[in-house]
Amino acid sequence: MNGKNNMNVPIIGIVSPCYNEELVLNETSFQLNSILSDLVERNCISEKSFAVFVDDGSKDKTWLRIEENAKQFKHIKGLKLAGNVGHQKALLAGLLTFKDDADALISIDADLQDDVRVIEEMIQKFTSGVDVVYGVRKERKTDTFFKKNTALLFYNLMKKMKVNIIHNHADYRLCSQRVLNALSEFGEVNLFLRGIIPSIGFSNDVVYYDRLERFAGESKYPFRKMAAFAWNGVTSFSNYPLKLVTIIGFLIFFFCLIMTGYALFALYAGDVVPGWLSTVLPMYFLGGIQLFCFGIIGEYIGKIYSEVKQRPRYFIDKRIE
Ligand code: UDP
Ligand code: MG
Repeated sequence: MNGKNNMNVPIIGIVSPCYNEELVLNETSFQLNSILSDLVERNCISEKSFAVFVDDGSKDKTWLRIEENAKQFKHIKGLKLAGNVGHQKALLAGLLTFKDDADALISIDADLQDDVRVIEEMIQKFTSGVDVVYGVRKERKTDTFFKKNTALLFYNLMKKMKVNIIHNHADYRLCSQRVLNALSEFGEVNLFLRGIIPSIGFSNDVVYYDRLERFAGESKYPFRKMAAFAWNGVTSFSNYPLKLVTIIGFLIFFFCLIMTGYALFALYAGDVVPGWLSTVLPMYFLGGIQLFCFGIIGEYIGKIYSEVKQRPRYFIDKRIE
């Protein structure tokens, strides 16, 4: 504990990014506020504890709802970003803005898919000295077959590429202040928090929960965004795809050697047909592979480009306490 408060109980902050979540905010505010009030009453956390909704440039009445709820509920706060920057950066904005106001921050989705009942367990682990507590999904009963299996494929792929991520953990986690201070030193624009946090180190533990149905509204992560997110995760933490380019190149070179041997043999045996296929096919084949490899290298160059510009990752418009 950082001894920020006299009673020796920690100040806990909950950070929840929202994009077009007007339908869920009243319920989420109510639930988070109740949990915090209850924990304060039982003297588990400081009364300065809070839950902050980060409005990620929503186009609906999200900010209005946040303002209303901040008035109505004691522990609710709001942070409005200047525009839509995406879930990861919005979450980062919340974490970095409020890290000095709490001993630990818990990140959670606004749609109540992450079971709020394990918040208490996270706080208990933190109080007993753990720096990072990961929320890990027990089962994915409510996810579609497609989402479940693409997620599984993603986690396995990441493991193969030696990226250190926690299996079945999304962005539901508690981080102590010193972990957040470490996080603030990461300057990257291509954010993949699930990879960054484990790479920081410090002591960690997990709590298990069932992933629930979204309370209301629809997913802001369609397949296109999910795939982009997964690809960002791979290319931000692994050079394996670049290595793959080398491996593919070598295999093709090897294949060509064999083909040359075969062609010479066929020539020697007099078994030559005016070969259109054997000329054109390798051309297409090699052309395809080359483009693929250029593509991968290009992806990384694109990343370098966006990183060297060192542009700010978000701008804050308003803040309500
Ligand atoms: N979100 C955000 N900015 C975006 C997209 C989503 O802040 O550009 C928030 C969203 O409001 C929610 C969380 O990120 O609180 C997770 O999004 P969602 O529930 O749509 O994703 P899913 O659970 O379907 O993967
Ligand atoms: Mg969701």
